[in-house]
Amino acid sequence: MAVLKVAKLGNPILRQISKQVNLKELTDQQGELQEFIDDMIDTMREEDGVGLAAPQVNRSLQIVVLEYENNERYPGESSIPVTVLVNPVLSDYGEEKSLGWESCLSLIDFRGLVPRSTSVTLKAYDRDGDRIEKRATGFEAVVLQHEIDHLNGKVFLDRMEDLTKLAYQEEFEEFWLKKDQVS
Ligand code: ZN
Repeated sequence: MAVLKVAKLGNPILRQISKQVNLKELTDQQGELQEFIDDMIDTMREEDGVGLAAPQVNRSLQIVVLEYENNERYPGESSIPVTVLVNPVLSDYGEEKSLGWESCLSLIDFRGLVPRSTSVTLKAYDRDGDRIEKRATGFEAVVLQHEIDHLNGKVFLDRMEDLTKLAYQEEFEEFWLKKDQVS
């Protein structure tokens, strides 16, 4: 168990395409990869994130973790149980998009208004190497798009269509939180 150092924007690893995980490496329950996944979950919780991708903790690997329960940065969203996704791929992006104020542990203190599809199909493996396939909607779909973007070298800034809606957290709370809350 360890809290890992979070890579911030400017660290080249955040702009790289992550390597696929060899699923055989998941089979050793005491192995290094399972320990790394535990460390990712610890780090996400310690940093109060709703998701974390391996490149954000300096490993170029296709792994993301998610968990959401009453986070004060995203009040009122429905909860997401702790989830580990290995080699995740999104497809069938829904045409309908919504705008939401995102934040990121690698761009700490910033909030930006980002358009995302409201539904998406996820294919991945869990930490035991079992296949996952589901249609995700709403907040979970947004978190998945944000985290899986990290595996492809993208951050939420790249998805913004209007950079006038980029704000420091403090100014976001003063000027934007009430009038343009995540819908
Ligand atoms: Zn992020």
